[in-house]
Amino acid sequence: MRRTVFDDDHEVFRATVRDVLAREVVPVFPEWEKAGAAPRGFYRLLGKLGVLGVRVPEEYGGGGQSSFKFNAVVNEEMARAKLGLGTVRVHTDIVLPYLLRYTDDEQKRRWLPGVADGGLMTAIAMTEPGTGSDLAGITTTATRDGDHWILNGAKTFITGAVNADLVLVVARTSVSPGNRRAGLSILVVDTSSPGFSVGRNLAKIGLKAQDTAELAFDDVRVPAENLLGEEGRAFEYLGHNLAQERLSIAVNAQAAAAAAVDLTLAYVTERNVFGKPLSGFQNTKFVLAECAAEVEAGQAMVDRALEEHDAGGLSVADAAKVKLFCTELQSRVVDKCLQLHGGYGYVLEYPIARMYADARVTRIFGGTSEVMKSIIAKSIGL
Ligand SMILES: Cc1cc2nc3c(=O)[nH]c(=O)nc-3n(C[C@H](O)[C@H](O)[C@H](O)COP(=O)(O)OP(=O)(O)OC[C@H]3O[C@@H](n4cnc5c(N)ncnc54)[C@H](O)[C@@H]3O)c2cc1C
Repeated sequence: MRRTVFDDDHEVFRATVRDVLAREVVPVFPEWEKAGAAPRGFYRLLGKLGVLGVRVPEEYGGGGQSSFKFNAVVNEEMARAKLGLGTVRVHTDIVLPYLLRYTDDEQKRRWLPGVADGGLMTAIAMTEPGTGSDLAGITTTATRDGDHWILNGAKTFITGAVNADLVLVVARTSVSPGNRRAGLSILVVDTSSPGFSVGRNLAKIGLKAQDTAELAFDDVRVPAENLLGEEGRAFEYLGHNLAQERLSIAVNAQAAAAAAVDLTLAYVTERNVFGKPLSGFQNTKFVLAECAAEVEAGQAMVDRALEEHDAGGLSVADAAKVKLFCTELQSRVVDKCLQLHGGYGYVLEYPIARMYADARVTRIFGGTSEVMKSIIAKSIGL
């Protein structure tokens, strides 16, 4: 079905992104996968092209756009080019909203120009070895010492940590008996601070070029002026911003499912089995017809959510619905597409194999499918 969510400005932007990915990233992506991270120059390039700062206000060197659809375009083009690289999405879709919404003017002047031009890459550290889904269980602490916070603890699974200059660290700054959600705050931590260390870049089954690392904080002194928003209100801030994070994951999952169908269509027309093209078998037609219908349903949901989000009304429960639906859809569709590739689908030089490995995590990060179901159930009164 014809999509109506994007206007000419979005499409011009899309053409730029598509072109740069095809020229600068696709040919070298296998090297980035081997290295376990994208090179720093890539982010600089995206900054120069205005991709990182498209939603940063003009006075801080950005494009001044308010529409999240520009982010969706980048996300879709990454998936279309079969590039599993969530570090860009973390920077633009997940971290930037915190820096736009909860910073004062001085902090904006300090951070936003670098965020826009790629000079300051960012990550966000919520998850800890002992707690992921249950963010109220965060044990990393920040205690006040004059005009600094002293940060201690550890985080894990932090996307983009290897290249990050600034990490938004969620830490406990006070304890309120009977209310585990109170007392969490967000500190913007300079990764060159003494006591801040990046541990292992974790070896994952997919998303090989997306660095995902452990972090440790050993008496890291964070200036008081690096507190984001108000002390003790992080849980509320996370709740608000996780809606966009989940929409972002859904957009990517949806576009990856669509890309899997496209490449499988090409494969089944070229591959011959039992003397005729694979595409000629009824099973092939039925499987791809089911996938095409599923992708269309997911697209309608994503597009509706994009409109709702730009209008300022995407609720936490609706974001959970779109993430749950599109990530589960991605797994089903990519699995069926892999099956149609036969043994080649299991070989990493075929893109469908990498897409299969990359897809598995979308039902886990940004809140698991089970957590999404809990949010949705609560919203319908259960
Ligand atoms: C590649 C990758 C990138 C990531 N990037 C980041 C990042 O940049 N920043 C960051 O902070 N985190 C990041 N994460 C962490 C991610 O968000 C967590 O892994 C996720 O939230 C789940 O937490 P957990 O791993 O601790 O699992 P757990 O919370 O231990 O969950 C284990 C199982 O228990 C289930 N479960 C938990 N609670 C409930 C419940 N209430 N009801 C029913 N079942 C439940 C879960 O669904 C899951 O099946 C990343 C993870 C990965 C793998």
